[in-house]
Amino acid sequence: MIKFLDLQGLNKQYSDEIKNITNEVIDSGWYLLGDKVKKFEKNLAQFVGTECAIGCANGLDALKLILRGYIEMGVMKEGDEVIVPANTYIASLLAITDNNLIPVLVEPNIVSYNLDIDKIEEAITDKTKAIMIVHLYGQVCFNKKLKKIATDNNLKIIEDNAQAIGANYNNLKTGSLGDAAGFSFYPGKNLGALGDSGAVTTNDEKLAKIIRAVANYGSEIKYKNKFSGLNSRMDEIQAGILSVKLKYLNDENAKRKEVAQYYLNHINNPEIILPEIIKGNINSHVWHLFVIRSERRDELKEYLEKNGVQTVIHYPIPPHKQECYKDLNNLKFKITEKIHREVLSLPISPILDKNDMVRIVDLINKF
Ligand SMILES: *Cc1c(COP(=O)(O)O)cnc(C)c1O
Repeated sequence: MIKFLDLQGLNKQYSDEIKNITNEVIDSGWYLLGDKVKKFEKNLAQFVGTECAIGCANGLDALKLILRGYIEMGVMKEGDEVIVPANTYIASLLAITDNNLIPVLVEPNIVSYNLDIDKIEEAITDKTKAIMIVHLYGQVCFNKKLKKIATDNNLKIIEDNAQAIGANYNNLKTGSLGDAAGFSFYPGKNLGALGDSGAVTTNDEKLAKIIRAVANYGSEIKYKNKFSGLNSRMDEIQAGILSVKLKYLNDENAKRKEVAQYYLNHINNPEIILPEIIKGNINSHVWHLFVIRSERRDELKEYLEKNGVQTVIHYPIPPHKQECYKDLNNLKFKITEKIHREVLSLPISPILDKNDMVRIVDLINKF
């Protein structure tokens, strides 16, 4: 079976370094928010090109903490609206609703699968305070028009950068394009920990200070609670491992790009819609996922499975159709629903074997 993502093989490449750093932490006797976390935050801020980076427990918390930080600053309040793409992963919405803010869903563009920037203005109301962009599948969702809309309407741009670490727009890295960004280091992400982890990046030092406190029970000084915070601290072990793996991220992203280019050059089944890199993103896509579309998606998935190729659907049910969002269930998003019916993610990983790529392409072309 060709695995969708061989995490064992991926992490094995660095196992000596990972084991060494893990042993260092074990022997140090300090396991949360210590020197390894400080060092990783510094490394991440430098990589992304922001003043501040704050480690936290996972990607969902990173996004939640950003909105909570803005609420504590008085930039937004309960009941305010945040614009978000309708076809994102549920975490983007949960970050909004967990803060008692209202998600305003906007359709994606059918070519890029990213938020349709031309449809943002019609969704803005008096209560809109932010646009959450999601660089879905590893492709940047940002342009001058988006920036202008945000500036003209006094809206914060929050980046959900869970899928696009290393991507850039005009040589500026994702995570530095908006006002604040949330990162996930879930094991399957382009920069994956060996457990859960996340981070926020921003140039806003006031916001960073609040987020740092909120993520640690709302304390700036131990046992003094300025905010009713959460427990969302980063582990020393994960921070150490992430600093090791960050050194190899550019190489890994380059390898993902080679796999993607091979698929793009060789899949020629007219029934299959290939992903497109939109103008401006040509060298910047980091291919977290390689997502194709077919009207016979379920049949294609079964056929590949039978022939030894594991694929995944990102995602089978859009957020507005989920049971947990009953009040959104009656909304209609035609493009989003079409995408969810037709998408299929092929194996893409920095260590995908050439023979496996050839086999996958051959199977798809014969479908
Ligand atoms: C993975 C992901 C998240 C959440 O990250 P976790 O670390 O799993 O909490 C948020 N948004 C998007 C788009 C993601 O892909």
